[in-house]
Amino acid sequence: MIDHLIPKTLHEALSAMERVHFIKVAGGTDLMVQRRMGPMVEPRFESPVIFLYHLKELNYVKEEDHQLIIGSMTPMEDLLHHPSIPNHFKKVLNDIASPGIRQMATLAGNLANASPAADTLVYLYASRAEILLASLHHERIVPIRDFITGVKKTVLKDNELIKEIHVPLCPCTTFTWTKVGGRKSDAISKVSFVGMAEMSDHHLKKIGIALGAVAPMVISDHAMEDDLQGLSIKELSMRKDAIIKHYASQINPIDDQRSNKTYRRKVAINLLTQFLDELLLKGMTS
Ligand SMILES: Cc1cc2nc3c(=O)[nH]c(=O)nc-3n(C[C@H](O)[C@H](O)[C@H](O)COP(=O)(O)OP(=O)(O)OC[C@H]3O[C@@H](n4cnc5c(N)ncnc54)[C@H](O)[C@@H]3O)c2cc1C
Repeated sequence: MIDHLIPKTLHEALSAMERVHFIKVAGGTDLMVQRRMGPMVEPRFESPVIFLYHLKELNYVKEEDHQLIIGSMTPMEDLLHHPSIPNHFKKVLNDIASPGIRQMATLAGNLANASPAADTLVYLYASRAEILLASLHHERIVPIRDFITGVKKTVLKDNELIKEIHVPLCPCTTFTWTKVGGRKSDAISKVSFVGMAEMSDHHLKKIGIALGAVAPMVISDHAMEDDLQGLSIKELSMRKDAIIKHYASQINPIDDQRSNKTYRRKVAINLLTQFLDELLLKGMTS
């Protein structure tokens, strides 16, 4: 039998994590696939396992100061039906896996798995989400760009877990989400894209751009986004080619069984171009 702990409370979980190096299990939809050993054989875990999914203390959605506060064990399917979750985030969630998987899958698992093809990451990077990490005696907030440090790598310490995900609410006037997969549902992304922007008075108030599955980490550049804020439509139009060139220089996809790098690169650049064109068109007519 797998050495495991099913804590009754968050405090019990955090206390145990001070003493033992556990593998944390949320919904298990990534872990159980990664650790499977074949039919009728239990999955292999090199360390004891701690189950967190049932902890009600980590299952909530709140709205505070123009941001969503999402408890780390809230299943994606609950988010999809929650009145506080904006429709554009729901579009992303609706394209993930299937309802059955979404009943178990969590944002925390999607984040901590740190795959460049994880679908919520593009939304969370473009929104500038922050992650609240908790250990028994300490909590810290880490911006998403600092949380993931490489493929399957994060700054999580052994005694920490993801407690909350904080997602700023964007009053977007333009939002694009595209997932390119091998089929319409239950597909792993070949390329994913989120573009969000707030325009008013023919000026860009806010912009968020993120590209997934086309580099070892999600491509997102908050410094570039800050630089674009405040531009008029005319100025943005003049910068369009430079923006595309800037992001294109970071696109560095791989060939794998799902797709090849030439296709991924072309599609990613097309999606960015379409988003900027839509933004410019709306800005001229609004
Ligand atoms: C059939 C199928 C289809 C899928 N389709 C998609 C898809 O379309 N898009 C997509 O992005 N993903 C997809 N996935 C992958 C998976 O469902 C998601 O990545 C999901 O969000 C993982 O969440 P989980 O709660 O199941 O994580 P788990 O498997 O429990 O954990 C994943 C990782 O996160 C860590 N972890 C979990 N919770 C915490 C926490 N609170 N604190 C610290 N570390 C934590 C675990 O230790 C582990 O390393 C699919 C998986 C399957 C099996």
